[in-house]
Amino acid sequence: MLIRSVETFILRVPLGGKTFYSSQAKFPERNSLLVRITTDDGIVGWGEGGQYGPPEPVASVIGDVFAPLLVGQPADRPVVTSERLYAFSRDFGQKGTYVEAISAIDIAMWDIWGKRLGQPVHALMGGAFRTSVHAYATGCYYPEAPWDRDRLLPDLEAEAATYVESGFDILKMKIGLLSVEEDMARVAAVRRAVGPDIRLLVDCNHAYNANTAIRIGRELEKFGVHWIEEPVVPEDRAGYQRVRAAVSVPVAGGEAEFTRFGFRDFLSEGCVDIAQPDICVCGGLSEFLKIQALASAFGVLTVPHVWGSGVALAAALQALATIPPQPHTANPVALQNEPIVEFDRKHNPLRDDLLVENFSLRDGRLDVPQGPGLGITVDEAVLRKYAAA
Ligand SMILES: [Mg+2]
Repeated sequence: MLIRSVETFILRVPLGGKTFYSSQAKFPERNSLLVRITTDDGIVGWGEGGQYGPPEPVASVIGDVFAPLLVGQPADRPVVTSERLYAFSRDFGQKGTYVEAISAIDIAMWDIWGKRLGQPVHALMGGAFRTSVHAYATGCYYPEAPWDRDRLLPDLEAEAATYVESGFDILKMKIGLLSVEEDMARVAAVRRAVGPDIRLLVDCNHAYNANTAIRIGRELEKFGVHWIEEPVVPEDRAGYQRVRAAVSVPVAGGEAEFTRFGFRDFLSEGCVDIAQPDICVCGGLSEFLKIQALASAFGVLTVPHVWGSGVALAAALQALATIPPQPHTANPVALQNEPIVEFDRKHNPLRDDLLVENFSLRDGRLDVPQGPGLGITVDEAVLRKYAAA
């Protein structure tokens, strides 16, 4: 079974009136870079590379650099292929676009291998600890500017309440765009809306320097927050250490880190309590296995970051199935020692429309796809509708 073709698809959906902000940027659209690898015996594998960065450079690396190396090569050995692609691009691509391109190819090759053997990817990765994963809602972003200060808190409270009503008991909200005082008022509003029993996470998207993050972390302790995500920029490992040493709120991060080498430094320097590799960013499922092994050796729970299309979510669920409780107990508790899955609740047709299958919450959980490979079917008509290139 050899690789016959490697094709890329850039998908874009403008969000129109549903535009939102994190601390870093406005999100006027959803975009995804998908790769489709076809074998000489007709098996098709899908992968996704990158998160919200521009998809064009990732498409170029796949199409112009890697595809010529892949065509005619065996299609059933993702680990070997990913190692070779990384070795090829090491001198100029240790982080960023090249690793995102490898991630997409790697995911597609696991999909092919699973389809070839008639097994779900998680079975090939060594087996599943769970068939469904406790989900958390990501929401409570910022609306489009200019902000109506009088509506900000009431709208936020109403939004937070909808997540509880739909069955979530863990909610992640965004902070970092406004002043510390305004953002703490937002956290207070969400806590007020959801009550004391909902576990609340906050995501700064690296908005702060370490001293501001520490000030905020101490405020968050009062609201019973269960993690503070990306408090400082990913390059500032000393800043991560300072935040982690100064506040009792667990520190999460890693969505902007790459490969086992990046995570080796991130973990060995004591930056985080929760490691968040993104499967479409960190090097794919092959690299995820190595990162997760490292994290477990450091006593750190891995909770993959999830963004992108339904392909990305399916890959994340396959990975999540394989994460051992960290540490083992006879009764694993979600987030405490049992991984959870990020389920972003902002409008995303690339996740909700692209696949024949549906991801829907059942008792607060998402099922791990059980079909061969990633266990998903891309709807080619929807693919054409959103394909910009
Ligand atoms: Mg994040």
